[in-house]
Amino acid sequence: MLLSKLLLPTLKDAPQEAEVISHKLMLRSGMIRKVASGIYTWLPLGLKVLKKVENIVREEMNASGAQEVFMPMVQPKELWEETSRWEKMGPELLRIKDRHERDFCLGPTHEEVITDIIRNNVKSYKELPLNIYQIQTKFRDEVRPRYGIMRGREFLMKDSYSFNIDEDSLQETYLNMRDTYKRVLERIGLEYKISAADSGAIGGDSSEEFHVLAENGEDTIAVSDSSEFAINTELLLKEGEDINSLEGKPSPDGNGTIQVKKGIEVGHIFKLGKLYAESMKANVLNAEGKASTLYMGCYGIGVSRLVAAAIEQNFDESGITWPHSIAPFDINIISIGFEKDQEISAASVKLYDELTNMGYDVLLDDRKGGYGAKMKDSELIGIPLNIVIGKKFLENKEIELKSRNGQSSSNPITDIKTILEFFKDK
Ligand code: ATP
Ligand code: MG
Repeated sequence: MLLSKLLLPTLKDAPQEAEVISHKLMLRSGMIRKVASGIYTWLPLGLKVLKKVENIVREEMNASGAQEVFMPMVQPKELWEETSRWEKMGPELLRIKDRHERDFCLGPTHEEVITDIIRNNVKSYKELPLNIYQIQTKFRDEVRPRYGIMRGREFLMKDSYSFNIDEDSLQETYLNMRDTYKRVLERIGLEYKISAADSGAIGGDSSEEFHVLAENGEDTIAVSDSSEFAINTELLLKEGEDINSLEGKPSPDGNGTIQVKKGIEVGHIFKLGKLYAESMKANVLNAEGKASTLYMGCYGIGVSRLVAAAIEQNFDESGITWPHSIAPFDINIISIGFEKDQEISAASVKLYDELTNMGYDVLLDDRKGGYGAKMKDSELIGIPLNIVIGKKFLENKEIELKSRNGQSSSNPITDIKTILEFFKDK
């Protein structure tokens, strides 16, 4: 991609409305722009990151054996009445009418739609277990949309729903999803905790949340300093504890001491049991030939929220320091004098083609302008690896290699192996 052709409206300063670092940097780096409260357009650079997160989620979901579908965003009132959630969801559910005055809502989640599909199309326990997922836009009319896409009203979620014949099978799918979410967060490269959680408006028997640890997290979680024990303090409050006296106490699992941390909830997995299947009469025939109510689980991961969470864990005073896995580009070729020096432009394009053909996602900064301004932009948008072709190239065919973490070296341009060797592990 030529930077001169890219819609990349970077800003020197963040607009006043942005409170947290991820929101500020997403606006400054030209990733998103606000359309209305909690509703954003993803510009090309932002969309590249979003798609990389989405791709990791999709690959891991497919590897887990789940199957992808695509459900509608607009859902009829009748389905939501079957579970009483038309009433229960309150004003968070955005209700709309069609031209015939029929009631619909914009889907905040899809338990009703998927359960309707399964009850109409799956007849026997032999067809189970099933784990069905989608990656789709959700709408929740949040009381307080804030922090940009971190708490939007419209956002992208991967939601999946499992259908199981009994509790044991549900437990197996649940643990499979738990491992899958771990793999997603590890592939992206984020520090996280899995905590026991309150099941909220989704309900069900029990649930766990995946929290990316960050100062700007909206959740407060109690974690052990020497084991995996973690619990959302929301749940403790519900159980009547006072959360301020937690800190420094022995962990309830007998390992280590409790520390109170801030976390961003990026994923939530639920054992629903028969909650939805019972009210929607979703049965299959069991091994004895009798109608048996399905067990369900549901598993959500905030694809768009993950982008903000990744920034909250990866930034410095110059901008974003993306984990390489989701950086918008792998390499930025910073070409100084591209527009006026044929030798420089030819060498830049040659290197661009070579690296692109090797499978790298490459940006070529072919704009007018000097080293300082271009490097500043590259650091702001967080490209992990930079190749500078400029004056030194004209003098003695040398290029500068510079990684986002500050390491640099000079190399003769012919040596692509040395370039890649330098870039390894950076
Ligand atoms: P929260 O407690 O943050 O409001 P939730 O518990 O209501 O979230 P779930 O129903 O568990 O959310 O949704 C699954 C995932 O979708 C969440 O873990 C989160 O990553 C993401 N998500 C939920 N609400 C939003 C939102 N308003 N903006 C962006 N992502 C969201
Ligand atoms: Mg949740």
